[in-house]
Amino acid sequence: MYKKLFLRKGKEESLKRFHPWVFSGAIHHIEGNPEEGEIVDVMTADGEFIAVGHWQIGSIAVRVLSFEKREIDAAFWEERLRVAYELRCAIGVARNPANNTYRLVHGEGDGLPGLIVDVYGKTAVMQAHSAGMHVNRNDVAAAVLKVTEGTVENIYYKSETTLPFKANLGPENGFIHGGSPENVAVENGLKFHIDWLKGQKTGFFVDQRENRSLLEHYAKGRSALNMFCYTGGFSVYAMRGGARLVHSVDSSAKAVDLVNQNIALNFPDDPRHQAFAEDAFKYLEAMGHQYDLIILDPPAFAKHKDSLRQALKGYTRLNAKAFEKIKPGGILFTFSCSQVVTKDNFRMAVFTAAAQSGRRVRILHQLHQPADHPINIYHPEGEYLKGLVLYVE
Ligand code: SAH
Repeated sequence: MYKKLFLRKGKEESLKRFHPWVFSGAIHHIEGNPEEGEIVDVMTADGEFIAVGHWQIGSIAVRVLSFEKREIDAAFWEERLRVAYELRCAIGVARNPANNTYRLVHGEGDGLPGLIVDVYGKTAVMQAHSAGMHVNRNDVAAAVLKVTEGTVENIYYKSETTLPFKANLGPENGFIHGGSPENVAVENGLKFHIDWLKGQKTGFFVDQRENRSLLEHYAKGRSALNMFCYTGGFSVYAMRGGARLVHSVDSSAKAVDLVNQNIALNFPDDPRHQAFAEDAFKYLEAMGHQYDLIILDPPAFAKHKDSLRQALKGYTRLNAKAFEKIKPGGILFTFSCSQVVTKDNFRMAVFTAAAQSGRRVRILHQLHQPADHPINIYHPEGEYLKGLVLYVE
């Protein structure tokens, strides 16, 4: 029996539509003083069960694990993880000899709010964004090992920066199962060093896999600029696609080391590639008109709704520079990973930039996050990555 949380009258409406969050303002009272991360039953004002989930102090007070009354036990974790794994097999990113880099769990998109699991070969990197997932980390790890058919042997837990500090959970980064220094993973036949110890997020941006593949098809004979390159995912694909030259730019010297390592892993001593540690705006301002393939994949410019206007201006300013400099006949891959920036917002920001440049611009593709980052239809907030591929006359 779990402790019970009672909603205020009428506050069950969004749960009836399977939205997986309970906001703190919807709560009438809680019985039994649960600990942060504890499982609670959510009850309507009339005392009817409506959901079960992880409780924590904060604006999102409950993250729903199930709308059916059930035990959240080993069988539950195994069932959810199995469904997640089968989906990755069905879409061809798991159980695939040419690819062992994929997102196994994408939070709400997999019915597991607060949990991210990325797989890099034999190691899964697990990240808890809620107190509850931290509390259940060993259950999750056991289920990951069980459902992945022996392909995952190590579990690295990386939640030091993602957990709510209020919970005082003493999160740690480290292996909670196995342990291996082997950190080369394969994405679509290309090798990448994954730095899960110090890298951003879980060490790699798995979400650009399909967009990198598309880029590969446009790379032949082109001079490419990969701006905000981080580990150089787009650069490595551009190299395989037959680009004439590839320049990777990131303000972080660490990222420049990573991209150089990854190029060396796949194309040792290939003189077509060079990397530069520089600020994006400075580089774009100073560069000439030599590129006919430009990738702009900046960090999220808006983390909250309050910064939306500023963020849109940022996207316009950035894209305007690319439109100004790209060669006639050039192709621009431009992205936004800010969750609060909608597809329409982003397109408007890029439209404004195009209009400022006066160039003739056509949309070739509208890009989004890949299928291993699924969006729960009842939780549209799960959509975050959008991109445009543009032909610039
Ligand atoms: N395109 C990458 C992910 C980019 S993440 C991939 O496919 O993996 C965003 C990157 O932008 C980070 O590596 C960060 O160091 C870099 N960055 C942030 N601000 C920057 C700036 N002003 N100029 C250049 N790079 C910047």
